[in-house]
Amino acid sequence: MAKKSISDVECRGKVVLMRVDFNVPQDDSGAITDDRRIRMAIPSIESVISRGGKLVLMSHLGRPKGKGPEPEFTLRPTAVRLGELLGKPVHFAEDTVGPDAEAKVKALKDGEVLVLENVRFNPGEKDGEATYSGKLASWADIYCNDAFGTCHREEASMVAVPLAMGNKPKVVGFLVAKEIQYLSDTISKPQRPFVAILGGAKVSDKIKVIKNLLTVCDSVLIGGAMAYTFSLAQGGKTGKSLVEPDKVELAKELIASGGGKLVLPTDTHCGDAFNANCNKQVVAAGQIPDGWEGLDIGPETAKRYAEIVKGSKTVVWNGPMGVFEMPPFDAGTQAVAKAVADSDAISIIGGGDSAAAIEQLGFADQVTHVSTGGGASLSMLEGEKFKAVEILDET
Ligand code: AMP
Repeated sequence: MAKKSISDVECRGKVVLMRVDFNVPQDDSGAITDDRRIRMAIPSIESVISRGGKLVLMSHLGRPKGKGPEPEFTLRPTAVRLGELLGKPVHFAEDTVGPDAEAKVKALKDGEVLVLENVRFNPGEKDGEATYSGKLASWADIYCNDAFGTCHREEASMVAVPLAMGNKPKVVGFLVAKEIQYLSDTISKPQRPFVAILGGAKVSDKIKVIKNLLTVCDSVLIGGAMAYTFSLAQGGKTGKSLVEPDKVELAKELIASGGGKLVLPTDTHCGDAFNANCNKQVVAAGQIPDGWEGLDIGPETAKRYAEIVKGSKTVVWNGPMGVFEMPPFDAGTQAVAKAVADSDAISIIGGGDSAAAIEQLGFADQVTHVSTGGGASLSMLEGEKFKAVEILDET
């Protein structure tokens, strides 16, 4: 069943407490260097204020110690930026559950927005202490979760606060709804052939994703450094490539359980040092000479993967095919990104490095969905259920 959305509830005159992810990157002076996370929340914010709701936004920023205010982690700059984006003033409270927040929540008029100070300044955010959660819950008529990047966490603003609201409406925002739609619903009932492309540095980070996707996909294509641990498992030579010898047994199990669905590279682009100016050569997979390391999938693999993607109806991609930050070892990642962008399949890009790569290459608007969450996106691809989402109302 689908989760009830913010658009399903009447907002006029109601206090809507919305958890957003305004954890934006900042420079040393505190200036916001990328406001994407704020812009992503605008549709849900507009939906509430355009219908006369009194909107209270809460978020974390960075990793303060949880023992009181720390000026470098204040959310004030995000309130200023949000005001610029909305073209109207946005109120800011100096605390989260203190007297300033309380007075400003009470004074809110229909259609106005208030940003509370960083939830992580309060010990209750981490330990779920009842007075903290209860106070936030008591101010609100409606709770909305639009913080996908934090959905895999069980901090108070994600779980204890909505639970403390009892029978009051608890809904998802548009951003969270879209992430669930693609990372969970589409994947559990995919149009076939369904292909996953998994790369990145370590097998250990992706074990659960590989296992989960092997149960639902028709093919799981492996790239990145983790391919070399699989190569070791097949008795291949990996030179000085990044490998995880303690994961070789597991790699053997995955190859066996994959029953032909697991597709490994057939060639490797190697260097004799980890830099762009090193000597380079392409070798057959499993034949990396001593003193050389694999830094990208080879051209034959890139072509084969692109062909498999071309024939797919649903494709999920998480993790680069090589050291894409260091040309020419970005070629494999570029080839796969282009194949995904060119295909007519429903294409879903997991957060983190693959999202960064697809943006950097200018293909972001040619794919169906680019996830905004790093850890949350990976957890959802692992098939995990999030408590922060489970507790919200169904339609
Ligand atoms: P992950 O965070 O697990 O998705 O890994 C992304 C990182 O893996 C990127 O920084 C890549 O540079 C790195 N990576 C991918 N392929 C290789 C490789 N063959 N050797 C070393 N690092 C790699």
